[in-house]
Amino acid sequence: MNTTLSSGSLRHCLRWAAPWLRRLDQVLSPDVCLLCRQEPATTEMLCPACQESLPAFGELRCALCGGERPALLEVCRACVEAGGFLWFRGVSAFPFRDSIREAIHRYKYKGHTYLARFFARHMLQAWQSHGAPARPELLVPVPLHWRREMQRGYNQATLIAEFLSREMKIPCLEALTRKRKTAQQAGLSREERMRNLKNAFALKNNISVKGRSILLLDDVLTTGNTLQEASRVLLQAGAAELSVICIARD
Ligand SMILES: [Zn+2]
Ligand SMILES: [Zn+2]
Repeated sequence: MNTTLSSGSLRHCLRWAAPWLRRLDQVLSPDVCLLCRQEPATTEMLCPACQESLPAFGELRCALCGGERPALLEVCRACVEAGGFLWFRGVSAFPFRDSIREAIHRYKYKGHTYLARFFARHMLQAWQSHGAPARPELLVPVPLHWRREMQRGYNQATLIAEFLSREMKIPCLEALTRKRKTAQQAGLSREERMRNLKNAFALKNNISVKGRSILLLDDVLTTGNTLQEASRVLLQAGAAELSVICIARD
């Protein structure tokens, strides 16, 4: 009997198990605040103190990254300096600081997947306020390299995309694959980041995005290079237009 598990079947098993683990995870986190995990949650899954100290942007949002912008411009200085992006609308739910920064760290690296529902809810609210005029038909999470996804047990963007897909009533499609295991972006210069990401993504076999309006989903928008590379691949494959949504703007 062949007892070795191929990488493909291992991935299949993990995918099969993931929804059960997630459900278990929700059962194990009762009505306690999702951020401090000590006080009882009242509204929006948080205790009053965490709700009060939640970092937030003002009403004037950059059209490309969802961060704050000056009153007289459509986009923020950082997006102007980046030379613009391939998407025409970008929304972020939070600034990347304080309790949100910590929560994202726990979510990505400590297995605290119950936070997906909380992030998705806030991303949906941000999208409803600032996503127009984009009208996406398809939600595409930015992929991890399969080896990293296997180590982590989940793709943080996909978990959120599954929630958002239900709320927005548009399908979630894992259309992209990460071809190379890229180095972590943190700590690299802008040039190094761009070189690191070159040809990092490809469209999966047998998937067509031709003529589709796509909403790309990632966790944190920092330089925008990751989303830019993913956008390039989708546009080359014939996508009609792109918008992006993130948990946080750094
Ligand atoms: Zn709290
Ligand atoms: Zn911006």
